[in-house]
Amino acid sequence: MFRRRRPVPLPEDWEDQVARHDPTWWQRTIEERTRIRDLAEVLLGQVRWEPARGFELTDEVRLLVATQAVRLLVGMEIDRFPDVRTVIVHASVIVGTGERPGPAEGVYDDEDVLLAGEAAHGDGPIVLAWDDVTWEVRHPRRGRNVVLHEFAHKLDMQDGVVDGTPLLLDPSLAERWIEVCTRTFHELEAEGSEVLDDYGTVDAGEFFAVATEAFFCRPSALRRHHPDLYEVFAAYYRQDPAGAG
Ligand SMILES: [Zn+2]
Repeated sequence: MFRRRRPVPLPEDWEDQVARHDPTWWQRTIEERTRIRDLAEVLLGQVRWEPARGFELTDEVRLLVATQAVRLLVGMEIDRFPDVRTVIVHASVIVGTGERPGPAEGVYDDEDVLLAGEAAHGDGPIVLAWDDVTWEVRHPRRGRNVVLHEFAHKLDMQDGVVDGTPLLLDPSLAERWIEVCTRTFHELEAEGSEVLDDYGTVDAGEFFAVATEAFFCRPSALRRHHPDLYEVFAAYYRQDPAGAG
């Protein structure tokens, strides 16, 4: 079970600090920003933060990572991520082991790869590269956000398998989810997409993480190009980031 640690209050000027990195910050409603604050305070109390190799892990780093991550939870009925205990932050790209959440546990690549982030199985750490975190937050229209990507993997892992199907409480959504995601996955393989990164074709787990990035970073474009996918993600996250119209 989760260790229940006390929430860590954010500093008074937390929104100014976040807005310095996130150009879309003030477009959010006061309700959403308040919910993000409450969730971020819980996450800050839940996580042990570790700087990698000489990186200076400041309160600003913790604040930005936490406030980005909890964007996933804003509409959901949970107030904390499953199995997130440690976040390790590097200054820059990570030379990864090639291990990634894949179709089957124990399947690894041999080659080293350069990564913006990693999410280990079970309650293993999330690893992030700070320069990628800040660049992507500053340029949301590029459709990438490594924080959302890695924390989405943790949601996917909650049911014990990394298969692109997170714990879906509603059985009718589960059926539609699998149909839509499978179909869109094959379309992405065959034709590519304006909105979904090709990295989503690696496996179903990466598809979920990549589609999550698109859903939050380029919601209108996702809805236009892949309306069915947008609809099932809106039902799962209980958010409608593309808004009315
Ligand atoms: Zn991934």
